[in-house]
Amino acid sequence: MSETALKEKALLIHKRLCAVYGCPIPYFQDLDPLSELVSSLLSHRTKNADSGRAFRALREHYPDWQALIDAQTEEVEGLIKGVRWPELKAPRIQAILRAVKATHGSLTLNFLEGVGVDEARNWLEAIPGVGPKTSAAVLSFSTLRMPALPVDSHHHRVAQRLGLIGPKVDVGPSHAILRAQLPSDWDAQKIYDNHEILMLHGQKVCFFRKPACHRCTLADICPSAFKVN
Ligand code: SF4
Repeated sequence: MSETALKEKALLIHKRLCAVYGCPIPYFQDLDPLSELVSSLLSHRTKNADSGRAFRALREHYPDWQALIDAQTEEVEGLIKGVRWPELKAPRIQAILRAVKATHGSLTLNFLEGVGVDEARNWLEAIPGVGPKTSAAVLSFSTLRMPALPVDSHHHRVAQRLGLIGPKVDVGPSHAILRAQLPSDWDAQKIYDNHEILMLHGQKVCFFRKPACHRCTLADICPSAFKVN
């Protein structure tokens, strides 16, 4: 399929899923960008309820993020034990916060406001342990409200089944491909909507196993319709 045809298809998918899930989708939280970074790192491969509980535990235990950096790693690990891989996430979060402070000079990401999306993403992804999904989440979900497109596993699966990305394209590289299919002048809300509706579709209809193609609004334009068990 040509690039133009893929862009048209991406727009049609957006329009139909918006009609089903109701755009604009309300933002689910309004954390400052550094707090969103911590929240996003906790959420990797973890249910929202569990990562939310871990985030609140950190917030309640430490007066600020500097205190988390200075804490014993075992203590941080204990506070976030409800997430997947707490033994990896605790030292990673501390190291990433240290890197933010060392690179920027202070423990904040508020300076990313006013920086272009590409520049902001590059800055964040230069920190070891911060990938495209985390950087996009920080820019989109936080109070920065920038037009960066996150791609989670549901979003990725649905996009792959619909043929927007090839079968061998991993989640990381899919970020740039899927963003490029959307209009460059879309604002943060529309980009956020696009992520949310594809994610919601993966959660509610296009399941990992036995997708409900019989009640999918995209079945007539999906090359995988009725082919996945
Ligand atoms: S038709 Fe089936 S495989 Fe295609 S997007 Fe819909 S639920 Fe997923």
